Amino acid sequence: MTEFDEPAFRQRIRDFIAANAPDLPYRVGTRSPEDQAESRVLRDWSRQVYEAGFEGAEWPVEFGGRSDFRAVEELIVTEEFAKALAPTPIGAGRLAAHALLHFGTHDQQVEYLPKIRRYEHVWCQLFSEPDAGSDLASMRTTAIRDGDYFVVNGQKVWSTNAAFSDMGYLLARSDPSVAKHAGISAFAFDMSLPGVTVRPLREMTGTSDFNEVFFDDVHVPADALIGDLGQGWMIATTSLASERAGVGALVIRLRQNLDALITYAKATPSGTGTIADDPVIRQQLADFTARVEIATLMSEAAVDRRLRGKFNEADAPLIKLGFAVLNQDLSYLGIEIQGIRGALATDDPEAVDHGHWQDEFLYAKAYTISGGSNEIMRNLLGERALGLPREPKPH
Ligand SMILES: Cc1cc2nc3c(=O)[nH]c(=O)nc-3n(C[C@H](O)[C@H](O)[C@H](O)COP(=O)(O)OP(=O)(O)OC[C@H]3O[C@@H](n4cnc5c(N)ncnc54)[C@H](O)[C@@H]3O)c2cc1C
Repeated sequence: MTEFDEPAFRQRIRDFIAANAPDLPYRVGTRSPEDQAESRVLRDWSRQVYEAGFEGAEWPVEFGGRSDFRAVEELIVTEEFAKALAPTPIGAGRLAAHALLHFGTHDQQVEYLPKIRRYEHVWCQLFSEPDAGSDLASMRTTAIRDGDYFVVNGQKVWSTNAAFSDMGYLLARSDPSVAKHAGISAFAFDMSLPGVTVRPLREMTGTSDFNEVFFDDVHVPADALIGDLGQGWMIATTSLASERAGVGALVIRLRQNLDALITYAKATPSGTGTIADDPVIRQQLADFTARVEIATLMSEAAVDRRLRGKFNEADAPLIKLGFAVLNQDLSYLGIEIQGIRGALATDDPEAVDHGHWQDEFLYAKAYTISGGSNEIMRNLLGERALGLPREPKPH
């Protein structure tokens, strides 16, 4: 294996982003396109990211991956994209590809993986339901076998990008008679099938990032089943675990935001000096500097452990929880520090930084819920990492 030239690799990513990244307004977090035109731009960009080998390089060579791929590349790509505020490929294709590569049939892999790479298909994740989020295994959407089909009925919610998706990575209850985790199956679900209704929801950020998805006697061909019948829970938890590794980019955003806030405080007149002369704000900025440094070091230590093949049960929930709390506090300071201008709407022409802080503040709540809420992270820490007694279940 040739020696890995990290500076050259980083430079290649930066050059690629500088030459190709779409000229779209930056939005915090994982957001959906605003319209079909934006969706097309993001599809095109996502395809280029795969073509350049910055995504999907770990796939088998047969499906476009590289035999000399190193795990550290993925971390570097994540870092460079975050630093450049470049959008990551749209949709849940990465998650679906993980499920297909590890549990799909060869026919499914040949059918879907090239389309994920070429961005002919945008995928969404159809897991959560109105009464099944943290307790996902209590989902009620059914997929009941009927001859050559599964007939799907029920509802999903929070489905990011569903209004722009061709395919859904669906979890549904295929056997209501067995224990709840055992009766769930996973499907490669064609969003254009008759009986599918997608209703966008508008959130407090002012954008429509989520959707409700309704299934009314949708006939899904039996060969859409991923893995074996009843294997859906294991397939989903395995692919979600592969996703949680991505908090490093968020910690980079924390530092960028803090740096921007310090620059703003130093440059903005207040009284006889600047905002940075305010004794309370100085204390707050110093406090956040320490907290962001701790979050960065924790994230780096976890990455280091992962690259050395050492698994620490506490890493993922601790970093996710730490980020979500710190990010919410910092976004609040970002609003507070502006005084009365902090009360402007995100799209107000007078809003500081084109409303970036309003967007950060409103979106910060999402991070305390998505990928497992703060409370669930605390449960994971207590029960799995510290070995504390399990929380009592309601009867
Ligand atoms: C930005 C974002 C994007 C998302 N994208 C998708 C997507 O594309 N596809 C998809 O399928 N889902 C998606 N989700 C859904 C997400 O996975 C769920 O919102 C999450 O699992 C929480 O479930 P819930 O919203 O049903 O809340 P609930 O589970 O109903 O929780 C409500 C409250 O109760 C608390 N709670 C629940 N159980 C416990 C417990 N055992 N102990 C202590 N407190 C508890 C929670 O912490 C929370 O405060 C997304 C969510 C967000 C915010």
